[in-house]
Amino acid sequence: MATSAAKRVIVFDTTLRDGEQSPGASMNLTEKLEVARALELLGVDVIEAGFPITSPDDFEAVRAVSRQVRRPAVCGLARCVAKDIDRAAEAVAPARHPRIHVFLATSKIHREHKLHKARNEILRLAVEGVRHAKAAIDDIQFSPEDAARTEPPFLAEVVEAVIDAGATTVNIPDTVGWSTPDRFRALIEYLFEHVSNIRKAVIAVHCHDDLGMAVANTLTAVQAGARQVEVTINGIGERAGNAALEEVVMALNTRPDAFGGCRTGIRTELLHPTSRMVSRVTGLVVARNKSVVGENAFAHESGVHADGVLKERTTYEIMDPKSVGLAKSKLVLGKHSGRHQFRQRLKELGFRLPDAAIDRLFFGAFKELADRKKEVFDEDIAALVESESAQTQETWRLCRLTVATATGGMASATVELENVVAKEHRRDAATGDGPVDAIFRAMERITGVSLRLSDYQIRSVTSGTEAQGEARLEARHGDRTVSGRGVSTDILEASAKAYLGAINRVIAMKGRKSKVQGPKSKVKKR
Ligand SMILES: [Zn+2]
Repeated sequence: MATSAAKRVIVFDTTLRDGEQSPGASMNLTEKLEVARALELLGVDVIEAGFPITSPDDFEAVRAVSRQVRRPAVCGLARCVAKDIDRAAEAVAPARHPRIHVFLATSKIHREHKLHKARNEILRLAVEGVRHAKAAIDDIQFSPEDAARTEPPFLAEVVEAVIDAGATTVNIPDTVGWSTPDRFRALIEYLFEHVSNIRKAVIAVHCHDDLGMAVANTLTAVQAGARQVEVTINGIGERAGNAALEEVVMALNTRPDAFGGCRTGIRTELLHPTSRMVSRVTGLVVARNKSVVGENAFAHESGVHADGVLKERTTYEIMDPKSVGLAKSKLVLGKHSGRHQFRQRLKELGFRLPDAAIDRLFFGAFKELADRKKEVFDEDIAALVESESAQTQETWRLCRLTVATATGGMASATVELENVVAKEHRRDAATGDGPVDAIFRAMERITGVSLRLSDYQIRSVTSGTEAQGEARLEARHGDRTVSGRGVSTDILEASAKAYLGAINRVIAMKGRKSKVQGPKSKVKKR
């Protein structure tokens, strides 16, 4: 077991790399920088910002995050080949604390079916890769991909060799979410027993949630001596996702007795705002019953429970909602609230916006909302900020919407949109099965972007008949999934905004794709 001096657990966040790989979660550069800023504030130790060789966009994003972030290390991912490693080194070069993360699969399945390489060759390549990276940068992390399914003696051999070659962190991934807590714990313990130089490196773990055990596997590895956890906000990531940062951190904080007093440097009161922000930027909704950050995580419906909590919170609450940044919903602002009050409340809710953006929000969306709705709640303010930020990549903006419905289900909609890039207004009308369908069709006619809706939900942001409604949807465009979100006191308008958000994402994605091929063609022509 680790000594008492080594109770600090390094939080390696891969929301921008593994998280961004979730279907439908792609982020643009502005959004990635916003997430990186939030992660730095949250107190993560390492930000894995992307996989630079995969596209010029990824390269640029890693570079931009490297320039922006000061305290955390910034990491770029690379396959175990020179050109990947060089590209990653170049991308993280501007960082104050640059790191390269080299990976190579070691399991039998991957060796035989993917790499077609024998063990000794894998070993040789791993060492060469680490040495190559080490020549550029000192902080090198190596991952034997699919470690959880690798024969433990061979895994130990690889780990020992890469530490000798200069790896300062060795990450043991359960790439396919196959392991179980007792097996994973045994694997980490095995490495501590069989790798002679293991104390020269930090042992990390990276667990996937295919069987819902990512967080449990991560925590059990910490008990066995791992001191870096690889996590994402809201647990987003490839397939079923990664271990959720907020769950791992709160488990360590809430149960020091179970985890030997191991702690992270996370400012837990920012967990909730960060979770909301990542959800908004990626369009991936957090399940209501999600641990720590779900909407119902601290809601008590049963009379007995609610009564207990009122008498003494700890009867049914093991964590204080305030400790994760969840303030009780309260009436805060109204029509007569001033700009200073508005700014103060934004700060308390964890939003850090430039002054110009605060002014724009206050005199625009906030005034308008306060006119429509007498009482403005925290959730309303959060929704305003979120829809404002969603506009950063918009091509089309909603100007006017008129809907007519008739008995028998048919409806017609007239929609006017502004193309912000081309600075022109366009109007068209369509009929459909109900008002929402009619609106969507009219928008397709104007923008020329057609989507296949796969999920569409409406919910109220706050309570009461004047509540703001939030529409969220997911749609397919070719082989890509895009999401959109809109908020308004009128649910048809919220739906229109959500659909337009998805259309704007498709356009942004196409713009980025064409950038890969060369000069500045794209967007403008559209
Ligand atoms: Zn992963």
